Amino acid sequence: MIMKPRLMVKANLENGLELSLEPETRHYLIHTLRRQKGTELLLFNNQGPECEWEATLVETHPEARVLVHRAIQVARESTLKITLISGLLKGDATEWVIQKATELGVSQFIPLQSQRTVARIAHERWPNKERRWNRIVEEAAEQSERVKLMDIHPPVEWSQLPALLPATPRYLFWEEHADAPARLRTLPPPGTGVTLLTGPEGGFSSEEVQQAETSMGFKILSLGPRILRADTAAVAVVTAVQTLWGDLG
Ligand code: SAM
Repeated sequence: MIMKPRLMVKANLENGLELSLEPETRHYLIHTLRRQKGTELLLFNNQGPECEWEATLVETHPEARVLVHRAIQVARESTLKITLISGLLKGDATEWVIQKATELGVSQFIPLQSQRTVARIAHERWPNKERRWNRIVEEAAEQSERVKLMDIHPPVEWSQLPALLPATPRYLFWEEHADAPARLRTLPPPGTGVTLLTGPEGGFSSEEVQQAETSMGFKILSLGPRILRADTAAVAVVTAVQTLWGDLG
């Protein structure tokens, strides 16, 4: 059975509406997927209730036009509302984390510039980076069949964190424990949401860990005896809480 292409569109959707697709979406549909007139599609626009829309490709040239049919309600959002705060990483590691976090159902991603963060995003570079990261989220949503997009927050400094933290249980993951550290599986279920914080390649300073614990309400947890790469740790903690308390396990 040929899978129906699933496309994110930035438009209101309603039964009977005919709309043109963005040039890059047209290119993907016509030239990458080589779809023709009459192709059945599934559209979503990240607005309103969690649903996708059946549509038909009715024109391919010079622009791609689709006729929207009915909405289909879906339930693919994580039952656990996860906020992932991850130290900004070098190269395209943050982009990999963003893609995996979207697939794993994270609702908000906050890139953190902390004491030992090597990568930093200059203010004037943020608009381009934001467009690129949001495109990664859209493509990961299309692939994973999410119809709601993970929200990407602009990069924040450590001092800005307290004002941003959701009112949920908060866990900071630290590998430099002296004594026997707490582990996720020993904790009670966090309720409807959880906030996870993992560090950059250089980790957290002990002052940051202490501040997080004493003035931000974070519980400091270990991920066991092996030191995970920063990108691995960010994805591992989401996978762990989704398995323990969400909809993965
Ligand atoms: N100290 C590490 C090292 O020597 O490579 C640097 C930090 S580690 C690469 C990046 C982040 O992953 C840490 O800040 C922490 O959040 C998380 N992490 C990695 N392994 C961990 C573990 N065993 N327990 C808890 N957190 C871990």
